Amino acid sequence: MSLELPGPQAVRKLSPGRLVIASHNAGKVREITALLGPYGVEPVSAAALDLPEPEETGTTFVANAELKARAAADLSGLPALADDSGLCVDALGGDPGIFSARWAPDKDFGAAMARINALVGDQSRDAHFICVLALAWPDGHVEWFEGRADGTLAPEPRGSNGFGYDPLFLPNGGDRTYGELTPDEKHADNHRARAFAKLVATVF
Ligand code: IMP
Repeated sequence: MSLELPGPQAVRKLSPGRLVIASHNAGKVREITALLGPYGVEPVSAAALDLPEPEETGTTFVANAELKARAAADLSGLPALADDSGLCVDALGGDPGIFSARWAPDKDFGAAMARINALVGDQSRDAHFICVLALAWPDGHVEWFEGRADGTLAPEPRGSNGFGYDPLFLPNGGDRTYGELTPDEKHADNHRARAFAKLVATVF
């Protein structure tokens, strides 16, 4: 799956100060906070500001990232960074994709990973993670950044680090799943880190 980001846009720089992490997913907030560490912004989570979680009504990663970032920037009066991401499995036509969280009712990712493995069976195990980061300002300006990590599905989930589908995903070039990597190893290179590198090169 490849993505067409909206554009072109006038690039806006992010000034030091508070930045809302517009996510209620603790795993994402942890990763994004770690990535922002060196850049002199003060991350504040949507949960800490009691911001509601908007319904993800978009049909693309870009649309969902943008609606989450805009909602948080509007309500907080601060710049807000949102992430929409998911696991796209070739044999399933790109599913669960934007529905990755919704394939795990009650956050039961063990069940979601078992379902994926059962559906894929002996078809291609190629898969990739996509992350779109949207950075919105209270005046309505938005910037988008996309990152992708290619890999395969492990025969069985392995490892208990990370979150979501991490135990099922074997990044190309490695023999450990994301669930088996240390947090530092995972933060160093994955779909989110790749989107983040584009953000850093643009807005800082
Ligand atoms: P959403 O972007 O809030 O709709 O949720 C994305 C979902 O995709 C998460 O709940 C995870 O299930 C999955 N996901 C996204 N990024 C990762 C990752 O880095 N590791 C594991 N699962 C991920």
